[in-house]
Amino acid sequence: MHAAVEQGLLPPAVPLTALLDVAGIRASATALTEAFGEITDAPVLHAFAVKACPLVPVLRLLRDAGLGAEVASPGELALARAAGIPPDRTVLDSPAKTPAELRDALALGIAVNADNPQELDRIDALVGAAPTRSPLGLRVNPQVGAGSIGALSTATSTSKFGVGLRDEGARAEVVRTYADRPWLTRLHTHTGSQGLLLPLMVSGVQEAYELAEEINAAVGRQQIDTVDIGGGLPVNFASEEQTPTFADYARLLKQTVPGLFDGRYALVTEFGRALLAKHGTILARVEYTKSSGGRPIAVTHAGVQVATRTVHDPRSWPLRIAAYDAKGLPKSGTETVQDVAGPACFAGDLLATGRPLPLLEQGDVVAVLDTGAYYFSSHYGYNSLPRPAVHGFTIDPDGSVRFSVVRAAQSLDEIVAEAGGGQPDALLDQSDRRP
Ligand SMILES: *Cc1c(COP(=O)(O)O)cnc(C)c1O
Repeated sequence: MHAAVEQGLLPPAVPLTALLDVAGIRASATALTEAFGEITDAPVLHAFAVKACPLVPVLRLLRDAGLGAEVASPGELALARAAGIPPDRTVLDSPAKTPAELRDALALGIAVNADNPQELDRIDALVGAAPTRSPLGLRVNPQVGAGSIGALSTATSTSKFGVGLRDEGARAEVVRTYADRPWLTRLHTHTGSQGLLLPLMVSGVQEAYELAEEINAAVGRQQIDTVDIGGGLPVNFASEEQTPTFADYARLLKQTVPGLFDGRYALVTEFGRALLAKHGTILARVEYTKSSGGRPIAVTHAGVQVATRTVHDPRSWPLRIAAYDAKGLPKSGTETVQDVAGPACFAGDLLATGRPLPLLEQGDVVAVLDTGAYYFSSHYGYNSLPRPAVHGFTIDPDGSVRFSVVRAAQSLDEIVAEAGGGQPDALLDQSDRRP
């Protein structure tokens, strides 16, 4: 924090910025690769879920660390391609793929997981029309239940994702689907994100494995050669500790579903949050401090635009906040219960309510911790607040800190241009101008 302030990343005119710990990201990628390397000799593609941090230099860093990409929109695919992630290390998963997206993906040879029978009909036509190198799979919903956050639980009985395996007749229909399509060689499941406990995630994978075995037995050969187990490893937002670890999850998987790791199945994983969350920090200036109804309030520049989920659902998405002085040095002093507010114009724009922290003063800096996934990288344009700059940092052995720009801050000109600034008369031209 001190180096960021000293090196001018947070001048008075730029009261909000974001940091990414390059060494930390690399360490998490290595931990993931090693955890699965321990439990299987078969090939494993770790496809980073791009939505967790859609920044090209981050995808390039992960590519360099041996990872691929899981994409769920044409935009995310474009980012993965811009980062140089090759088609054979890219997986397309979105639930609403258009015919054009499917055609492009198959032409490129990108792996596609179909979400539903209608999508399979489209793929049937494409596969019939031209040969493709794309590995093709079907997403199933094991319907094993929800975690603690409903909006992120994808394996409920009525989830919008995949084919619900426990619906009447569905399982037999899925087996037929594979028997009719010899090119359908993958099976995909993703049980949910944040708020899931490991046993629930493992039981989702177990259901997928048992289905793969059933299908392969029914067709009399190893038609399904790859199981895509999705992502979803939860992150501990309460302390510095990284729990559970990739190794914890891998060990429990191996113990519970040994057949999936005996070398017959290649694997795909799609982790997002667990790779990035701990390695990102938002830095924001305290612009003003005040008191209302006896409660001290620090008005900062970090709010709903960078921490959308926390502001709208603080109970599900609490974030730790650390207090620094104007120079970026840790603040000490007695803790005082206070609110930490953002800059947006609605009453709920609070990052923390009633939080004990050293009393914040005008010009101080707050650090919002563990925000490397799904926070500052997924900007929300409320109040036309600009996307902040993102800086990667590395700490050299002598303690000096090197920063590099991952993404420049959005400029006012860009905000105007993206808001139709190039065609201010667009609506006037439509109105009735007759005298
Ligand atoms: C969001 C998502 C992921 C990543 O989830 P994390 O909780 O960030 O690991 C993986 N696969 C699919 C299909 C997803 O929708």
